[in-house]
Amino acid sequence: MRTDAAVNSNFPGGTLRRPVLAVVAAILLVFPLCGIARGGNLKVVAATFPVYVLARDVACDCKGIEVELLVPAGTGCPHEYAPTPADLRRLARADVLLLQGWGLESFLERDAFKGTVVEVARDLRPLPSNAEVEDGDHDHGHAGRPHGDHEHDGRDHAGHGHGDHEHAGHAHGGHEHGHGHGAFNVHLFASPGAAAAMVCTIAEELGKRSPACLETLRTQAAKIAGRLEDIQARLRALRPLVRGRGVLLQHDSLTYLVHETGLAIRGVIQENEDAPPSAARLLAFRESMRRRPPLRILADARSPSKAVATLSAESRVPVLALDPVAAGPADAPAGWYVDVMDANCRALEALLHE
Ligand SMILES: [Zn+2]
Repeated sequence: MRTDAAVNSNFPGGTLRRPVLAVVAAILLVFPLCGIARGGNLKVVAATFPVYVLARDVACDCKGIEVELLVPAGTGCPHEYAPTPADLRRLARADVLLLQGWGLESFLERDAFKGTVVEVARDLRPLPSNAEVEDGDHDHGHAGRPHGDHEHDGRDHAGHGHGDHEHAGHAHGGHEHGHGHGAFNVHLFASPGAAAAMVCTIAEELGKRSPACLETLRTQAAKIAGRLEDIQARLRALRPLVRGRGVLLQHDSLTYLVHETGLAIRGVIQENEDAPPSAARLLAFRESMRRRPPLRILADARSPSKAVATLSAESRVPVLALDPVAAGPADAPAGWYVDVMDANCRALEALLHE
């Protein structure tokens, strides 16, 4: 597999790392007390890794709030996850269950949970599924919300670059799309702009149940959201450099990130992230790449794919690995989400400034 060594060199977990002091300084600015063990009064369980690392960082200064992760950190998208007896015991002890929502956690029987369920992406709108973005049109609207009218504050769209129009609302409910490949794309967590909105929702919801912490939660959420919005602005600033070029994605978990840049998405190699693409599908990609080579194949840095390696070798289209933050290390340091998105952004900046 050919990879962009220059643009991957800043990737967390890559062979080369950012200067350690700069990382430490950045973490201390935003996360002064994270990681200190404490006994919590409000027990919070986040179902998935991305929501967990965001919630943990929002609550890191609040001694009365304890945040745990349910699905193991390295699992990735939980589309096929089956809760273990230990998971169920952890849920039984929790006061609050944080979900992204929009069907990402459809493996959970949420009605069995006795505490409060919060969908942290409830104020966001998902993008259509990859079937609707494969034409490379990055100026489309969004899947309609299945819920009633809500106020939006400008941060409500998980994906951007759309025109003023919207698709007619889908008839489906938000919880019928457990596999991420229905009418809309469930990987909202992979958008820094969406994550900015999520941390603010997390602060408000945890603050309701731990009022003494509310101001601390809000302050920390504002810091994190500010950094995420800066990253989103940098991604959008790349749009004039795209000049009609497109990329192929390993999987549609990268759609939200790529969408911000305006790069056209020419196709998604793995329809199902838990299974390799069919021979017929690979053949079709081979053909389309020969006719019109994409700028890069964008791969999931945490989920190596033989199909991606093969297509890259055959087509001589390099691979650029990005991290949608679906998974990560169990001991991910404070600031993980922001740092990974910053590295993704720098990789895309390097690519488009070439
Ligand atoms: Zn997924």
